[in-house]
Formats: sequence, C-alpha cells, structure tokens
Amino acid sequence: MLALKGKIAVITGGSSGIGLATAKRFVKEGAYVFIMGRRQGELDSAAAEIGSNVSAVQGDVSNLEDLDRLYKEVAAKKGKLDVLFANAGIVEPTPTAAVSAEHYDKTFDINARGVFFAVQKALPLMKDGGSIILTGSGVWQKGIPIYATYGATKAALRSFARTWTADLAGKGIRANVISPGPIETPILKGQFGDNTGAMKERFKTMIPMGRIGKPEEIASAAVFLASDESSYISGIDLPVDGGLVAV
Ligand code: NAD
Repeated sequence: MLALKGKIAVITGGSSGIGLATAKRFVKEGAYVFIMGRRQGELDSAAAEIGSNVSAVQGDVSNLEDLDRLYKEVAAKKGKLDVLFANAGIVEPTPTAAVSAEHYDKTFDINARGVFFAVQKALPLMKDGGSIILTGSGVWQKGIPIYATYGATKAALRSFARTWTADLAGKGIRANVISPGPIETPILKGQFGDNTGAMKERFKTMIPMGRIGKPEEIASAAVFLASDESSYISGIDLPVDGGLVAV
C-alpha cells in the first residue's frame, strides 16, 4: 500500500539534497508534489528527475509574495494541501564575533521567517489530517560556535512546532521537526569548500554510527511523519543523525 496515496504536498527547497530526495519518495508513495526553489534551472532538472506528479514553482521563501504565488498555484491546480515540508534553508558558518547584520538577517529571513510564513500561508489550504514537517538540525542542541545564527534559527523551528501543535490540533493538523545530522548534500560543500573531506572525517568520529547520513534517510522519516502512520504524533523533534545528539 502506498503511504501517501492521493496526498498533495509542498516541499520548499525541493530542487536539491534532502528536499529532492523527499520529493522523489513522496511521489513514489502516491503523492502529488509542488517543489519550490530559487533557481529555475535546478527546479526544471529536479522536476524532470522526479518525472511525474510534480509541479515546480520558482520562488524565495523569504519573499511573502512568492509564497502567496506558490499557494495560489496549489489552490488552482489541486484545491487543497495535505503535507507541507518546510525544508528550505541556508547555512553560512560564522562565529559570533564575525556576524554582520546582513548575515544575521539573511539567515533568519530564510531559515526562520521563511518557515513561519510558509506555514501561516499554507493553513487556509490545509484540512483535517494535515501534516507540517520542518527541517531543523541537531545543531540547535549543541552550541557549536560557527553556527551562532544557524543554530538559533533551528531552535526557533523547535519552538514553532510546539506552538503549532497546540494551535492546530483542533483543526486536525500535526506539526513536527526532523533534525538531520550531517547528510551528504550540496550544503556540506557550500559550508566547508576544500575542507569538506576533512570535515566529513571529523563528523564521522562524533557520530555513534560512524558515517554521514544519506538524504534518502531523511526522506524516509519525512514519509513517516507525512503519512497517517504517524497520526498520533505531533510536536516532536525527530533526530535522524546516527545517534549524534543522543550521546
Ligand atoms: P541543499 O543546499 O541541497 O538544499 C537546500 C535547498 O533550499 C536548496 O534547494 C536551495 O535552493 C533551497 N533554498 C535555500 N534558500 C532558499 C530560499 N530563500 N527560498 C527557497 N529555497 C531556498 O541542502 P540540504 O542539506 O538538502 O538542506 C535542506 C535542509 O536541511 C536545510 O534546511 C538545512 O539547514 C537542513 N539540514 C541539512 C543538514 C546536512 O548536513 N545536509 C544537516 C542539518 C540540517
């Protein structure tokens, strides 16, 4: 049986990494998926890779008009939304002393404000049985100096999920966070450049399971939280990190 048969999903940051792997899995499980991302070229090739039951909507989650346009398209094409995977995010490793106002605002605009309004604006389309999934990070629990702003944005998502659990339960909508550990996606190279290989080796020594995760392993968790298999789960932060934050 398909876990997401007939469900309509939006995935922000759906053109690469975790978002793309999840879009592919959602479609395999019977969903129709709208992927949103900033770069048209990447979106088009992602949509071609996914193959069917997908619409690509170009836009920036920190731009409220882009979010309005996204949901207008969902409303026009499908008339409802069952699953929102608010996954788009950026990371620019910066210790406190080096944080500029521009870096601070950009990180919070995309990672926290972008998620908040992606959810708020989705609500009119979400019906009983809806599932909101936020991509957090284990980093918020750890206090890592280079993630001064990034970690704080992910802590904000943890709080949003608690609030929305209380606020939206009456509407039959659940809200949960998935907190990945280090996962093999373009975001690693974006952060560490030529040091990526060395950083991955270092991460491996910190992770009980001794390896970097795969985007498909986050997608599996997202399928579970999106599906009715998790119908009594709301407000959790699910680490998918090889045991990293547990030890
Ligand atoms: P990625 O860079 O492949 O994916 C990020 C996606 O977000 C991209 O498609 C990008 O275009 C999109 N995006 C960025 N800013 C956007 C904006 N303003 N509007 C719309 N889309 C935007 O990396 P990923 O690892 O797949 O990241 C997905 C999520 O996972 C992020 O929220 C990230 O913080 C989180 N995460 C990743 C890791 C990891 O190690 N890969 C660990 C913990 C958390």
